[in-house]
Amino acid sequence: MLDRIRFVLIGTSHPGNIGAAARAMHNMGASDLALVAPRCTAVTADSISRASGADHLVNGAQVVETLEQAVADCTLVVGASARSRTLPWPMITPRDLGARLPGELADREARVALVFGREDSGLTNAELQRCHAHVHIPTNPDFSSLNLAAAVQVLAYECRLAWLAGQESQREEPAQPLANHAELEHYFTHLERTLVTIGFHDPAMPRQLMARLRRFTLRARPERMELNILRGILSDTEKLAAERSGNKVRHREE
Ligand code: SAH
Repeated sequence: MLDRIRFVLIGTSHPGNIGAAARAMHNMGASDLALVAPRCTAVTADSISRASGADHLVNGAQVVETLEQAVADCTLVVGASARSRTLPWPMITPRDLGARLPGELADREARVALVFGREDSGLTNAELQRCHAHVHIPTNPDFSSLNLAAAVQVLAYECRLAWLAGQESQREEPAQPLANHAELEHYFTHLERTLVTIGFHDPAMPRQLMARLRRFTLRARPERMELNILRGILSDTEKLAAERSGNKVRHREE
């Protein structure tokens, strides 16, 4: 997902900012950098030193003349803006942006562009109006303009958080199917029978025991495999209980 998010820097004047933006991207696992009509040479000693190991992003950056060329293959284009403009446009927060990414990038062909403006004057109205939405990083309203690379860092971080959340939810998918209702009911019947057999549960004095065990088990959303293990324990417990009571009976008979 992260390699299909293009960071587009328009009219950048300081090579150091290009290097620092590349570093911020690489730190967060993003790799697609495009420079639109940069007002400086992109690869300089300063940009390479500020890239601090991410110089392959600077060297590999696509350099084009217009915003249209940079985002032609992108399905969603979001402009990063330090201030609100005259014409209201759909505004999203960096967190909203992250939340949208997995859906926007679900199709493997899809690409998203994040567009950043000039250090001195930001994005023009014409550029902002080529964006589906604008993202504003919440700041001190009296001092709202971040350094270009710092703005790239914040948005790249939100992209990474969204990507990590996606990984996490995939990992949370149970490896085994969950137990279904019927299997759970068989388990509860078996559990109650065993608890009665070993004298732990007296149906005449239930004290909500089965309800509490049900709530506990249902909260855990057990997998079928886990329920089978529990039922195996119950079966062995019943077997042991039967052996013991058999022994007692035999004892008395002797
Ligand atoms: N002085 C310019 C801002 C330049 S900062 C202005 O007032 O518009 C360079 C770029 O960093 C901006 O064009 C924007 O893309 C990004 N940026 C800086 N601060 C930001 C913020 N608070 N929210 C979103 N993007 C921001």
